[in-house]
Amino acid sequence: MPDYVIDPPSPSVVPVADGGFFPVRRIFCIGRNYAEHAREMGHDPTREPPFFFTRPADALVISGAETPYPPATNDLHHEIELVVAIGREAKGIAAEAALDHVWGYAAGIDLTRRDLQAEAKKMGRPWDMAKGFDFSAPIGDLAPASRIGHPANARITLAVNGTTRQDGDVADMIWPVPEAIAYLSTLVTLMPGDLIFTGTPAGVSAIVRGDRLEGEIQGVGTVGTTIA
Ligand code: MN
Repeated sequence: MPDYVIDPPSPSVVPVADGGFFPVRRIFCIGRNYAEHAREMGHDPTREPPFFFTRPADALVISGAETPYPPATNDLHHEIELVVAIGREAKGIAAEAALDHVWGYAAGIDLTRRDLQAEAKKMGRPWDMAKGFDFSAPIGDLAPASRIGHPANARITLAVNGTTRQDGDVADMIWPVPEAIAYLSTLVTLMPGDLIFTGTPAGVSAIVRGDRLEGEIQGVGTVGTTIA
């Protein structure tokens, strides 16, 4: 054991639906991966190479816990997303082999300080403070691929206070999961414990304190949190 000069942080974990915990190493996120969402954000959904951003592993909020409304924003948005959990190292792999590296899947919410993101885009600055803030990623239980398989078609929805705001299908991703993993594995060596948030369908909107968020991906799982 190294002679740590402060207490080392305990690992961030995601509960597994079947029992146990998945330790999280890093969180990667894909931007603009559904055409209708790209359009609502004012972009032409051409099939350009995918782009990625990251958020800290300790930004996760376990489903069921409250999510504090973050500081420094007046425009907090929800983005429901399919989350892929990597179980095996992947470096420069082909799309055909990508699913062999997936441990499981979860429903997650990419919370976004949209006003800070708009400012960052305008100024050509990084998105870190728009995306990677504390408590910015509520996540539901992980479902192992060994049990549920690999969802190529699955309805993905998010309701705020019981009203459906986002309603899409993971089949509509511009870069489907195998291709996204393969592409990302050419940029970094993916390692066990890495999570990939795979982008959101259309319907993102602002949320405020007291709002109840309920997300579901059919055949995968649910995620729920209240903004406190
Ligand atoms: Mn997103």
